[in-house]
Amino acid sequence: MTRMLLIGPPGSGKGTQAERISDRLGIVAISTGDIFRYNVKEQTPLGLEAKKYMDAGDFVPDSVTNNMVRDRLAQDDAANGFLLDGYPRTVAQVEYLDGILAEKGQSLDVVLQLTADDEELVTRLLNRAKETGRSDDTEAVIRHRLDLYHEQTEPVVARYEERGALTRVDGIGAIDEVTERVLAAIESVRSAP
Ligand code: AMP
Repeated sequence: MTRMLLIGPPGSGKGTQAERISDRLGIVAISTGDIFRYNVKEQTPLGLEAKKYMDAGDFVPDSVTNNMVRDRLAQDDAANGFLLDGYPRTVAQVEYLDGILAEKGQSLDVVLQLTADDEELVTRLLNRAKETGRSDDTEAVIRHRLDLYHEQTEPVVARYEERGALTRVDGIGAIDEVTERVLAAIESVRSAP
């Protein structure tokens, strides 16, 4: 069983890699971004609340996001491991997640950061915008999301690094190559004494 986080800037390929890793390891991938997008599409109250933040490239408030993750992690398919993609993104979310896991006597096995430089990310995201038409993939919003990553999510990475729990993986390269790097990194963490 593996409980893990995948952290990385927008455009680093987190979502793609999360799907592949969850298939290979047989654990559910939980993407907060996907859950929000689903709710926006279905026009649920949660989606209507989240949409204004998402369109601006801002974080959805913790009061909404934390409860959503708590509910999701309580579902049966997360009992035997999970891969969180896109959460926690703030230090306050790290503390909230610590609390959820502590209540269940659980902890994380692996925290992986996918790395890539900003200009590469902007190029990738502008290309993705042409393909998917995601409303938060305009250049101004992309740059804002990257700024938020540096300001709010790098401290999350630092937190896990202080705990000696962080592994970094180079996110630049062909999708298959990055997947192999990620799987090798997970394997080496799990086989470490
Ligand atoms: P993503 O698909 O992970 O890039 O997420 C898309 C958008 O969903 C983000 O820009 C935020 O508006 C929102 N979102 C996803 N995860 C979180 C989170 N952990 N905290 C706050 N907002 C989030």
